[in-house]
Amino acid sequence: MIDTHCHLIDPQFNHDLQKVLERAKKARVKCIINIGYDLDTSRDTIRMSDEYDFLLPVVGIHPNELAEESLHQMDAIEELCNDRRVIGIGETGLDYYRNYSTRAAQQNLFRAHINLARKYNLPLIIHTRNSIDDAIGILKEEKYHKGVFHCYSGTYEQAKEVMDMGFYLGFGGVLTFSRNAREVFTRVSLDFVLFETDAPFLAPASHRGQRNEPSYLPEILNFAASVKGLPVERIEEVTDRNAQILFTLRI
Ligand SMILES: [Zn+2]
Repeated sequence: MIDTHCHLIDPQFNHDLQKVLERAKKARVKCIINIGYDLDTSRDTIRMSDEYDFLLPVVGIHPNELAEESLHQMDAIEELCNDRRVIGIGETGLDYYRNYSTRAAQQNLFRAHINLARKYNLPLIIHTRNSIDDAIGILKEEKYHKGVFHCYSGTYEQAKEVMDMGFYLGFGGVLTFSRNAREVFTRVSLDFVLFETDAPFLAPASHRGQRNEPSYLPEILNFAASVKGLPVERIEEVTDRNAQILFTLRI
């Protein structure tokens, strides 16, 4: 089992990271994709991989963290890509729900991430909120079709477009309590699905409202298996393979 989207660099894990990782291993989570959301936390993801080799770093600036200096910081983000352990670019995307900065500024920063992903041939980890159509439009313009729409929250029709472009769909704790996510998940092909916790955010139903952590990943897979009417082993096998293909993992 692979947690394809997690933020262990979040201060909420400062006091008990070791225990969190032990519980993840016990739950059979074999590796965790650890995603930065600004320059500092992107550096942290790499530093953490020095200590724990099953944490895989992803670097980028989240649209909700966009600040005046963000575009200039992309040079420093690019420098981090020279570390061969970096396996993706993100968390990037567009957030029209929180709208902390203008849409134009978010789109510029998103395009900068796409260019970086292209240059290093890395997948994009894409965050969207009320912005899927614009994200699809920009990716089509930029002609870069490698990555995942994480915590997928759009319609089935949008999901179909995303899959037709060759992108994967990330599902996490929201699947266990959102009817919309469940209905979309029922219809999409497993060959385009990745699972994630997005810890410390968006815990699944049994821990809703609490801090999320990678050891809750089996709950999400079990739920997914019941929705699809398939054995959980099959769900795990297919989606692990998807993650291995997208992130070129050798595990
Ligand atoms: Zn995230």
